[in-house]
Amino acid sequence: DGFVRSTCPYCGVGCGVLLRKDDKGGLEVKGDPEHPANYGRLCSKGSALGETVGLEDRLLEPKVDGKPAKWDDALQLVADKFTASIREHGPESVALYVSGQLLTEDYYVANKFMKGLVGSANIDTNSRLCMASTVAGHKRAFGTDTVPGNYDDLEQADLIVLVGSNLAWCHPVLYQRILAARQTRNTKIVVIDPRRTASCDGADMHLAVKPGADVAIFNRLLAEIADQGAVDDDFLKNTNGFDQALAAAQADEFDSGLTEAELKEFCDLWIGTERVVTIFSQGVNQSTSGSDKVNAILNCHLATGRIGKVGMGPFSVTGQPNAMGGREVGGLANMLACHLDIENPEHRDAVQEFWKSPHIPTKQGLKAVDMFDAVADGKIKALWIIHTNPAVTMPKADKVRDAIANCDFVVVSDITDQTDTTRLADVVLPASAWAEKSGTVTNSDRTISRQRKILDAPGQSRADWDILSEVGRRMGWNDGFDYEHPSEIFAEYAKMSAISGEFGKDFDISLLGGVDVAAYDALVPQQWPLTQHRQGGRFFADGKFFHADSKARFVAVSTRAPAKVPQSPKQFQLNTGRVRDHWHTMTRTGLSSKLSSHAAEPYLEVNPADALRLGLGYADLAKVSGPEGSSVLRVRVTDAVQVGQVFAPIHWTGETAPTGRIDAAVEANIDPISGQPESKASVVTVEKYRANWYGFAVSRSKLTLECDYWAIAKTPSGYRAEIAGLNTVEDWDKAAKTLFGIDDAHVTSIVDTRRGTARLAFEQDGQVIAALFVSRSPVAVMRDYIAKFPDQILLGRTPADVPDPGPTLCSCFGVGINTIIDAIETGGLMTVDAIGASLDAGTNCGSCRPEIAALIAKRSMVEAAE
Ligand code: SF4
Repeated sequence: DGFVRSTCPYCGVGCGVLLRKDDKGGLEVKGDPEHPANYGRLCSKGSALGETVGLEDRLLEPKVDGKPAKWDDALQLVADKFTASIREHGPESVALYVSGQLLTEDYYVANKFMKGLVGSANIDTNSRLCMASTVAGHKRAFGTDTVPGNYDDLEQADLIVLVGSNLAWCHPVLYQRILAARQTRNTKIVVIDPRRTASCDGADMHLAVKPGADVAIFNRLLAEIADQGAVDDDFLKNTNGFDQALAAAQADEFDSGLTEAELKEFCDLWIGTERVVTIFSQGVNQSTSGSDKVNAILNCHLATGRIGKVGMGPFSVTGQPNAMGGREVGGLANMLACHLDIENPEHRDAVQEFWKSPHIPTKQGLKAVDMFDAVADGKIKALWIIHTNPAVTMPKADKVRDAIANCDFVVVSDITDQTDTTRLADVVLPASAWAEKSGTVTNSDRTISRQRKILDAPGQSRADWDILSEVGRRMGWNDGFDYEHPSEIFAEYAKMSAISGEFGKDFDISLLGGVDVAAYDALVPQQWPLTQHRQGGRFFADGKFFHADSKARFVAVSTRAPAKVPQSPKQFQLNTGRVRDHWHTMTRTGLSSKLSSHAAEPYLEVNPADALRLGLGYADLAKVSGPEGSSVLRVRVTDAVQVGQVFAPIHWTGETAPTGRIDAAVEANIDPISGQPESKASVVTVEKYRANWYGFAVSRSKLTLECDYWAIAKTPSGYRAEIAGLNTVEDWDKAAKTLFGIDDAHVTSIVDTRRGTARLAFEQDGQVIAALFVSRSPVAVMRDYIAKFPDQILLGRTPADVPDPGPTLCSCFGVGINTIIDAIETGGLMTVDAIGASLDAGTNCGSCRPEIAALIAKRSMVEAAE
């Protein structure tokens, strides 16, 4: 039928997709019913993949100093600059900053390049910002970085505890799997999160913990486990350190922010439910005590022996499609490869012998935050960034942007040169994109899946392993980078993993060491380990761990507050995270008008009491300032955040909303063990941003945005933009023409200088091609209606027979919130399925079902009160 099996390139669920070329240069995308991660399901992002494979903004040729260059010249320049830096300043003067978007084969070659050829471990990945604390916690407890269970456990559990995880938005297919299983087994769901997220909508219990205080909850749980006699004494024989961990837990008096009744209810439920899976994610990891939080959770599972058995265990879910692959292959600066340790001389010797490499580092390299500090200090003189955008995503992003700009030599490999980071590079190299390359990825439950090329790489773009290998050869190691096909790299990697097995480590996929091109092409999703003796399955139920004595270790932990806490009512704790339909810095999801419609602008969630105190109304703009930088965002007043806390999403960039780069306001405080930054508890001040005017614009073509505040998003017919300025605009006709780049269209304008309002519409050939609405306060127009029906906007009113659908809730079918509310209130549809039957909303990917359920619940509460 022409469909090719591959994997979704977004989150760590790692869903299988079926891809087929359409006749417009795009792709048809379906969930793969046979993939064990999703069994045919896809979320809104996966469903819209076909919309994101066009060539808009693609980088199609190498560039040096912003000018087109030949591959040969660009690669030689990179090789020469790296070689010169190593010769003059030593191997520690160069670095690679890579990404969980890389395929395992790309990662393998990047790691070999840095550790085997350069002889430094200065390679770190943006996964450092995502799950490094989990790696540290796993290693401390288990002796290696092992995820014990698998996805089936989520369906076979009777209790799911989500800690710092908005699974409904960030790993939607797993959340849908849990909800489906819940229909038959009545699974209880508890959410531990300072913020009320979409995952709370269907939960039995939401514990609004104080930011950073998760350890206090799990220490209390450990103490209760002991008090209630729920310790599994037999399993405890396979562990060390229980008494110390228990003593620390019992002595922990940190205030978690929860009531005694809440704590007791949670502990009783957890202890009383044998099949419990504790899922944790960024809310746990992105913390200065992230590693301790992980160990506090693992301690409770170890104490009860609820680990590696059907329906029970701790479960870290990874953010990126190949974050796990990076952990396995050595993408982190503190690991060698295949879970082998840099500090262990035997491991080092074995890896160097296997690679027959000229060098091997003897110490850990620089982790992300330290790496960019070293760039700022001039210690790193040649930096190669691959498929990531640190000028936006690193904490203290403005400082990082300046550091990259001032670095002696910067190379960026990416699919586009329209990012904040590529704009700073001396050399940009065009890399092939997701659907154009072949390789493997590992998802959150250790399943290795093939990604398969279906589209030709456009222009001169090339695979990352190919680019890295070419530079490696030009730097003098021909034999080490003599690859012609990704299957050769995978086979080498699989053979190398046998070393890990020989040292008694977990990561061994040597069964696949003999794959040739045909076998590689035919690989089906498989969970590791993959050896002659063992294929996949759970770890640790047998009580065998990977420390030298084969025992697990409890880690005694005490709750610590975040590095900084607010000192006055003027200060707030800033939490950051994802929205449902965007991915990272939107280089792909931003191309989809469907995905852009759910959240078209960066925003700040503010509690109503704080908003009142700060004089902030809904849709005002607010300035969020930290010690290192600031951000301007649209205000959403909501009690989803607690008093004294604010939340902002991470996705907006210099390309989409230059003042919305929230990581400019995030400080670079790190967990001392994992090096992971505390992205969820920065201290900031918030104040009203008093613009002189506010505007909303729609246009068929891209706008020239040069005002103090702007945010742009795609619509089905072009673009929409929110704008605001501190200046005074005398001539709106002229300003609008500049904004839209229009000279010759017919303009209809209504400008009221006294009231500060303006409405302008530009027509060409009887069609509205652009329109602008301006006001002294945030513009009140029906944005989603206007974005959808630009031809009928002249006065910003909807015709009486076409109601405003409101902001899009279901992006698959484009159903707005007003339409759904109307179906509930007027149509009396009081179940998500009834809404789906009537409007289709929620019937495809299901990502919006929690939000629909929340609207129904709200209506039920109103009816109950009436
Ligand atoms: Fe992709 Fe969504 Fe599956 Fe994540 S849950 S892998 S984003 S389809």
